[in-house]
Amino acid sequence: MTDLFSDAHAAALDAADLLRGFRDEFLLPRHDGAPMAYFVGNSLGLQPRGARAHLETALRKWEDEAVEGHFTGDAQWMTYHELVRDPLARLVGAKPVEVVAMNTLTVNLHLLMVSFYRPTRERPAILIEAGAFPSDRHATASQVEFHGFDPATDLIEVAADEPNGTISIAAVARAIEANRDRLALVLWPGVQYRTGQAFDLAEIARLGHAAGAMVGFDLAHAVGNLELALHDSGADFAAWCHYKYVNSGPGAVGGAFVHERHSRADVPRFAGWWGHDPASRFQMGPEFVPAEGADGWQLSNPPILAMAPLRASLELFDRAGMPALRRKSRSLTGYLGQLIDARLADVLEIVTPRDPTGRGCQLSLRVRGGRDRGRALFQALATRGVLGDWREPDVIRISPAPLYNTHADVLRFVREAERWAADTL
Ligand SMILES: *Cc1c(COP(=O)(O)O)cnc(C)c1O
Repeated sequence: MTDLFSDAHAAALDAADLLRGFRDEFLLPRHDGAPMAYFVGNSLGLQPRGARAHLETALRKWEDEAVEGHFTGDAQWMTYHELVRDPLARLVGAKPVEVVAMNTLTVNLHLLMVSFYRPTRERPAILIEAGAFPSDRHATASQVEFHGFDPATDLIEVAADEPNGTISIAAVARAIEANRDRLALVLWPGVQYRTGQAFDLAEIARLGHAAGAMVGFDLAHAVGNLELALHDSGADFAAWCHYKYVNSGPGAVGGAFVHERHSRADVPRFAGWWGHDPASRFQMGPEFVPAEGADGWQLSNPPILAMAPLRASLELFDRAGMPALRRKSRSLTGYLGQLIDARLADVLEIVTPRDPTGRGCQLSLRVRGGRDRGRALFQALATRGVLGDWREPDVIRISPAPLYNTHADVLRFVREAERWAADTL
């Protein structure tokens, strides 16, 4: 029998990993001189080595050419956002015309709700999940209020119906059905940030549309994590950030998707000059003519220095490919689950769905014994170079990222947690 818990077993899994070379493409944070076991790619992904070169290219262009940098070379600033369009479309399973890198996540949610949340007295409601990320709740509640409606009745929050705080698709279907005459918009996460639960996006889009609502997705925890098929999902829009699994740096420029069916339509929006048809943008006329597709939602000329790392990151995703990344992710997260079940069942309870199709990289681990014990374990791990993140009141989130984490990292987490538990008995 193989001993799951041996260094040799973890090393064999890592040796068989076809993506093992990608770890060297990242700068690993260190603790006491050695690389950390870093499991916080769901919060801030690591720096790709290639990010610096793209940034320096932009800085040098600014230094050497100043305003001329807008118009010269392959990476000219005038069309800089176009450099990431195709790789971004591949990453989220969309057509190039459907995606754009711009702004940040919450800004994009608001801009897209301006277009796709058009409440009427009969249909004022937005449906979200209970316990949504605060920014999503603030954004949806404030949109409801902005239009003169009342979040107390018109922001519908679907409660968890499963023992670990996850939400069944049946519960989503029931909530949509119960409000089918009142719903203007369903805004749903690809992966729920707290529980790590992944959802069947095509099914949620189908349910929302069948009720006559628009459907949008927040993919903050899904992009770069799951194999997405946004176009085929039929969603009207989606937004996400690039600093989590997409490793593009703190506060990185976000992403947006607008389904092709809305690309030419006369969709109302908040407009700015960068969303104007590039063919006539510099005629500087007073009338707004939107660019085709998602580009037409841009407001400002893109922040080149903030967008440079995204280029480096998307090159890695193109090289690795989401199917291979997802296979490795399932191996890492599956191994983590196996080890926890075998060695830490009396310390940690896995909150995230067991079915690999119901989750991505992240396992949310409830620490048995409550908050103080949880904080103590979290701190002890951090002092031993094993970094997860903490969610009140008693959850540690551990997200092995297939681009740079190893099975040896996973084993190290479990060993350190086990050691802590033995020491604190
Ligand atoms: C990370 C995250 C955010 C953060 O929003 P920003 O606008 O990028 O600061 C919002 N919503 C969800 C669901 C997230 O996971």
